[in-house]
Amino acid sequence: MIRNLVLVLGDQLSHASPALAGFDAARDAVLMIEAPGEATHAWSHKARIAIFLAAMRHFRDELRSRGRTVHYVELDASDAPALADRLRAALQRHRPQVLRLVEPGEWRLLQAVRSVAAAAGVAVQFLDDAHFFCSRADFARWAGPAARRLRMENFYRHMRVAHAVLLDAEGAPEGGRWNFDSENRKGWPKSPPGRAGPGLIPPPARVEPDALTLEIIGLVEQRFGEHPGSLKEFAWPVTRADALAALDVFVRTRLRGFGEFQDAMWTDTPFGWHALLSSSLNLHLLDPREVVAAAEAAYRRGDAPLPAVEGFIRQILGWREFIRGVYWRDMPGMADANRLEAGRPLPQWYWTAETKMNCAREAIGQTLRHGYAHHIQRLMVTGLFGLLAEIEPKQVADWYLAVYVDAIEWAELPNVAGMALWADGGRFTSKPYIASGAYIDKMSNYCRGCTYAPTEKAAATSGKPLCPFTVLYWHFVDKHAALLARNPRTLFNVRQLEQWSQEQRQTLRERAADMLQDLDRL
Ligand code: FAD
Ligand code: SF4
Repeated sequence: MIRNLVLVLGDQLSHASPALAGFDAARDAVLMIEAPGEATHAWSHKARIAIFLAAMRHFRDELRSRGRTVHYVELDASDAPALADRLRAALQRHRPQVLRLVEPGEWRLLQAVRSVAAAAGVAVQFLDDAHFFCSRADFARWAGPAARRLRMENFYRHMRVAHAVLLDAEGAPEGGRWNFDSENRKGWPKSPPGRAGPGLIPPPARVEPDALTLEIIGLVEQRFGEHPGSLKEFAWPVTRADALAALDVFVRTRLRGFGEFQDAMWTDTPFGWHALLSSSLNLHLLDPREVVAAAEAAYRRGDAPLPAVEGFIRQILGWREFIRGVYWRDMPGMADANRLEAGRPLPQWYWTAETKMNCAREAIGQTLRHGYAHHIQRLMVTGLFGLLAEIEPKQVADWYLAVYVDAIEWAELPNVAGMALWADGGRFTSKPYIASGAYIDKMSNYCRGCTYAPTEKAAATSGKPLCPFTVLYWHFVDKHAALLARNPRTLFNVRQLEQWSQEQRQTLRERAADMLQDLDRL
């Protein structure tokens, strides 16, 4: 009889997992389950399915080569699509004394494992997920009462001190400042001709698929051929060795440029100076401590400037840990939150990139090609459109959960419901992130190749129709003026709108109503 059956979920692929500590090959076994339901409950991009399956099968082989028994349920091994059903069958087959696992990262799976084990009469042991700097209990202690509104910046400073990251000899922040964000918001130059654009950026690591990954790519094409996205350029790390190599390439060649142009967007520049490490982190192929340590060491060696290193570390030690804490604090309510009562359907072009709006075409086009878009493309293009166009949060969240190789609910949902859509009513953001086409024009070259003109002035001189982002931005300010007037930073937008004449406001409302009634046309 198996003593501990160690369930390793697809996003727990670490040999340092606490669930594997004290593993006794004579009495224990590992259980891993591929479940087609995980690929279809969010209608997943083929690259998202492939990265999970390839990483899981590589991890299975590594475990076996370390002498561990692994019971591995392959995709086609059973007719039951849901992970819960497959787990139930495995518990009936193996009848372990204890089902042991690291707490699942997702609320839905935690409930499922709990209830399947209880129904099967198998004791279950959940262990804290040691992957994160901050445990759920520590976050709850820091966050305090449930009603308290949280701010990432306070959490980040707390984490810098608690983990002694980027501090000087006196324990003060390195360089005398906690945050160099104000230096990290530049767009790439648009002139003079010949010197415009991002210039030469060292390429990110590309992992050529090995035989096992190629087999998975074939399987996904055959089994999930009608799913969105392409596998032609699949080059994501699927083992710890790949992920460490990708981290090394980033720290040696790209970290130095990370901060300055972090928010910039440019045609045919899908990755900019970004790290492309989120999928490796979320699969647990990389430990966030080693990523943060590698970045800090690069600064101490003089290989990367402080604003770049601080900006990068803030994403991992600050945002990533904070987002996870917020997820567990606000679930399950966060999944249904809809403070602005947005109810329109997601336009079809989110799945095809076939829209006249060049910014959305670029951001979604690269998403379909690579399963990747960087933070500002997610927040200020596809997310912003969802907010301004009043798309139902659940549909937007389902899309984000489907299309990115790093998409896991604990990371995706707070970013969508909290940051992009303000569906949670500002649990951790002081105001909705709203902007017009002028912001996208400032931060990118997308508007130059667009059917639309980003500003009224550009529309008047070019004869192009006015940008949907701009029309819907002013419509949002008009509709939510009372809400926006409560915050000094958004009160300014309301005051600007108050300068408009009644006729101008009426025209705005008509234009917006026309756009909103058929978003698929844009
Ligand atoms: P970089 O820009 O190089 O940043 C470095 C690392 O910091 C990332 O690898 C990531 O681990 C972490 N990070 C940065 N910002 C965040 C953040 N806001 N939340 C969590 N981690 C962060 N990230 C996911 O990992 N999974 C998701 O499903 C996801 N969905 C998102 C949805 C929306 C609407 C938005 C606005 C952001 C989302 N993010 C998500 C956060 C962020 O966009 C991605 O982590 C980042 O783009 C990944 O690319 P990178 O590795 O090149 O990141
Ligand atoms: Fe996007 Fe508007 Fe610019 Fe077109 S004009 S690229 S729709 S912001």
